[in-house]
Amino acid sequence: MNKGIVSGIKRMEIHDGDGLRTTVFLKGCPLKCIWCHNPESISYEPEIGRFEEKCISCGSCVRTCDTNAFFIKDGIVLFDKGKCTACMQCEKICPVFAIVGYGKEYSVDSLVEELLTDKPFFGDKGGITFSGGECLTQTDFVVKCAKRLKEKGVGVYIDTCGYVKRDVFEKIMPYVDKFLYDLKAIDGDLHKRLTGRDNAAILDNMKFLSDKKCAIEIRFPLVKGYNDGETEKIGEFIKRLNIGIPVKVLRYHDFARSRYNALQRRDTLPEGQTTAKDVVDAEEILRNMGIIVIKDN
Ligand code: SF4
Ligand code: SF4
Repeated sequence: MNKGIVSGIKRMEIHDGDGLRTTVFLKGCPLKCIWCHNPESISYEPEIGRFEEKCISCGSCVRTCDTNAFFIKDGIVLFDKGKCTACMQCEKICPVFAIVGYGKEYSVDSLVEELLTDKPFFGDKGGITFSGGECLTQTDFVVKCAKRLKEKGVGVYIDTCGYVKRDVFEKIMPYVDKFLYDLKAIDGDLHKRLTGRDNAAILDNMKFLSDKKCAIEIRFPLVKGYNDGETEKIGEFIKRLNIGIPVKVLRYHDFARSRYNALQRRDTLPEGQTTAKDVVDAEEILRNMGIIVIKDN
């Protein structure tokens, strides 16, 4: 597969690994985490997000759309996502950026060429992070991009939920400097309730990468009232891995809510926020268990 579907590219990123990074978000994810903060990367298909609150009802999208996905009713411009073919024409003409297209097709050549323009900013530690969605579900595309970037001297990190087949990790491993590996819960039933999937393969794959001495940073997205009871179990699991694998506790927030609405996707985001103190408390528990804890930036 020489083509990939990218939901977005973020530059000068400091949260997705070490140094200054460019993060490539690929579309499609096998999990459905209730707290997902990238809802535009859940579907594998290109799609339009329409931010109603920004719309000034100019009607340009109504005139542009050939499928009548945008239409006027009672003087208000409305969007029927079911009629949208994701041609992305309306995104180009909206004067106030109320329409955002998520899902641009790239060839390996075009993505690598674009990413290499950022190389001067990376310094010693920075580089590219492939994220998502689950970037590894677009396996061949990501493997080819990672290989080409490594050949050009650019560091590659993979941000993964771990829910892919073992051979996917075997294919990508030679081109990866570090895996940023999510660990959401150890209890299988709870994991399934929160993400829609069992975690057996996720835990097995993490053990596999650890046994292979791959560089890993574990990321524990802490959602107060949902998985905070898993902190000690996560610590116990990490203690059985290769010595020195660190964990970063990520603080849940609901900044993605407007994107759920824009995408007309059912909003599953928990209402309560995780506080800074909740994060510190979880970090303290892990540290007291002898785990290396690194702070989020
Ligand atoms: S992406 Fe194309 S089909 Fe979809 S609403 Fe915009 S113009 Fe219409
Ligand atoms: S083009 Fe943008 S601002 Fe104009 S009606 Fe459509 S969504 Fe609203």
